[in-house]
Amino acid sequence: MQELVKHAFFEGKIVPVQEAKVSIMTHGFMYATSIFEGIRAYWNSEKKQMYILRLQDHLERMFDSMKVMHLEIKYSIEDLTRIIIDLLRRETFQRDVYIRITVYKSAQKIGVGLQNLPSDICIFAIPFDDYYEGKDGLHTCISNWRRVEDNAIPARCKIVGAYSNSALSKADAVLTGFDEAIVLSESGSVSEGSAMNLFLVKNGQLITPDKTENILEGITRTCIMTLAQDNLNLKTECRIVDRSELYIADELFFTGTGAQVKPILSVDKRPIGNGKPGPLTTKLMDLYYSMAQGKIEKYKHWLIPV
Ligand code: PMP
Repeated sequence: MQELVKHAFFEGKIVPVQEAKVSIMTHGFMYATSIFEGIRAYWNSEKKQMYILRLQDHLERMFDSMKVMHLEIKYSIEDLTRIIIDLLRRETFQRDVYIRITVYKSAQKIGVGLQNLPSDICIFAIPFDDYYEGKDGLHTCISNWRRVEDNAIPARCKIVGAYSNSALSKADAVLTGFDEAIVLSESGSVSEGSAMNLFLVKNGQLITPDKTENILEGITRTCIMTLAQDNLNLKTECRIVDRSELYIADELFFTGTGAQVKPILSVDKRPIGNGKPGPLTTKLMDLYYSMAQGKIEKYKHWLIPV
């Protein structure tokens, strides 16, 4: 897959990807003092058109993450939009892609701290299909790792260092035979998946952990809330969710740029509903993919054609 990537935006210009290398002494590498964004662009094969999904919202969230981590760059949202479109045009992918932006402390310096250290940004795009390689639904477990707390590493910012927490929960879930982990906060309430948000359906109600539950406030999460409200007249309840509510939910699904909309078939060996993707989940999945491929006029403002 990697060999498909030809270019990267690195140190202020688009270069061959082989030239986009940071030093082993780079602060962002040594201390994970960096933040990132993951964005999808969808290929509509009928129209032969690629659409970047909610780029503006991803970039706004990126600037919020940067603010928390004292990262500064000289580019505006408009500059970055132009750079990303340029990069995608040069790559000429005719399939769905994942765009990865990293903003990092670029100083070569020993010692923690964020103040007065220069920052830089790099970007690449890579073809990306299903995060779960063809699985129609996921078998999950409750992780025995807890989610990073807001006063430790704020989960609402995509701070690279916090992804060791995600990696631990994901790795242990997979090593014990599950597809994905569901992570609780220190208080014991449900937070999210290793790198995806979680929704449950109970008695026709759509519920998701509130933004104060140490979640990343996912862009896909807000897409689903809007799609549910507009098309199914369903308002999402954002609140504290108990672990056992998951076991007895009618439907469960994950949302995320990588995961997209993915049904959860079981939690800790308890089948969810009848153990198959539920009807509401399936409807929301269909709406999501149609929207992302530019097939619903109403949501075209979420898309930037490349
Ligand atoms: N939570 C975490 C920890 C994530 O890494 C992601 C993926 N970015 C999400 C949730 C979903 O967020 P989004 O829909 O914006 O991709």
